[in-house]
Amino acid sequence: MQNITIAIDGFSSTGKSTLAKQLAKQLGYVYVDTGAMYRAVTLYALQNGFVSETHFDVNEFVMQLDKIHLAFKFNPKLQFSEIYLNDINVEKEIRTMEVSALVSKVSAVPEVRYQLVKQQQAMGKGKGIVMDGRDIGTVVFPQAELKLFMTASPEIRAQRRYDELIARGDEVNYEEVLKNVQERDYIDSNREDSPLMKAEDAIEVDNSNLTLEAQYEKIMNLVSMTLEGQE
Ligand code: C5P
Repeated sequence: MQNITIAIDGFSSTGKSTLAKQLAKQLGYVYVDTGAMYRAVTLYALQNGFVSETHFDVNEFVMQLDKIHLAFKFNPKLQFSEIYLNDINVEKEIRTMEVSALVSKVSAVPEVRYQLVKQQQAMGKGKGIVMDGRDIGTVVFPQAELKLFMTASPEIRAQRRYDELIARGDEVNYEEVLKNVQERDYIDSNREDSPLMKAEDAIEVDNSNLTLEAQYEKIMNLVSMTLEGQE
């Protein structure tokens, strides 16, 4: 059977990565979480003092981009790839509220996007890939055979994110998480370079009221139909 490219875009905390991991496992495909790449670049900017809540030295930061080396390494225990920033596993550090609060600002910089999109396209060259993000179906892989666009209400998404953060022991409050989700939606959808939007040929999935099982079944049907269409 021919391998395809599956592009999953959508708003924050719509369950893109959960779905992408399930699909990649089922199909034996590579999964790439592009949000983790933008988060790791943001962590670098934060650790090196280029960005904070109150300032962003964009020009100085852009000149340092070639010092940032990102890699994904498969963790057999967890059954997915974790992100490494200059050879250090930063999977946990990139998911903090501090990084979440700054990531959309850093992701709006065209030079950052240019570098990361180039790396993402190289990873997907051989197909057999599930990639999730904000611009996968529109910019990274406009020719992807299957494009999904995930949505859910902001309140439901914030609750999911809040539950995740609490489960891993972070001290956060729901209002703060909701505010972050809404702010990122706004910045991601309104930036000039590659704003978050549904590709014309993407299939929209609103999972506000779908169980994980129901969503998986629905999307596996779409995958099967797409694969059959390739034969
Ligand atoms: O997917 P996740 O919520 O971890 O992404 C974090 C942030 O990274 C998004 O809010 C967005 O600002 C940025 N991002 C992006 N383009 C992508 C993936 C993520 O701009 N393809």
